[in-house]
Amino acid sequence: MVAGGFPVVTPAFTRLATRLRDDYLASARKDARRRGPDAHPHSKERYQQSEREEEAKLARQLQALPLGIVEFLWYFLHPEGHVLTFSLLDEDVTGAFSQQHELDHGLRIGSQRFPELESLLSPRPAGATDCTVCAGRASSGEGEDWHVCGYCWGRGWFPPGLGELIEQLIASLKRAGEDDAAIAAAARAFLGGGVALGFGPSLLCAAYELGVRCAGLDDAQIDRRFRICGAAAQEHFPGGWPSWTE
Ligand SMILES: [Zn+2]
Repeated sequence: MVAGGFPVVTPAFTRLATRLRDDYLASARKDARRRGPDAHPHSKERYQQSEREEEAKLARQLQALPLGIVEFLWYFLHPEGHVLTFSLLDEDVTGAFSQQHELDHGLRIGSQRFPELESLLSPRPAGATDCTVCAGRASSGEGEDWHVCGYCWGRGWFPPGLGELIEQLIASLKRAGEDDAAIAAAARAFLGGGVALGFGPSLLCAAYELGVRCAGLDDAQIDRRFRICGAAAQEHFPGGWPSWTE
């Protein structure tokens, strides 16, 4: 299923993503030709236009379809089945993601602008449970306030077993209180359970974050639990845990 680090997407996936990308690039070229002299260099329109130009430039460079901006990351979909992120802080491509949940996240972000992308989202498997954060809706808000639920990767559901694992984590973190050894044991049990179910580090890290945020803790307590889990995660994913490992 995985070749060269990227999962093989279906030919239908590549066809649709290629068509949307090529249509986008063609309309961006037309848009650039149509543009006349700039009468309002500091207007909101000018700002939006320069963002469109920057987007088209990146899309050409990456040969990828622009999906949208979330916080400081600009998401693009390459038709071969990976999502690329361009960091507006670093002004560089900082990520290439190709696991199914990461693709789904990008597809959902892009679906507001390109509704056809929804047809490429993974089907909900038997035994999946509704995401407890977005209640199965996958996104919330309207218009400019619209945003994709990051805890379920824009799917609206947790894969079989994950919802239960998060519930167990919340309960054991509450029981652990401020006892570091008990917090570490809770994190290890969560990671062990997740690995047994076949989940990778990015999915488990987001799920752990959800569990910790549901345990009724302050920022310093949350931070300590992230660091404890980061250390425990090195056993399963040496060097591969997304964050909080320093
Ligand atoms: Zn959700």
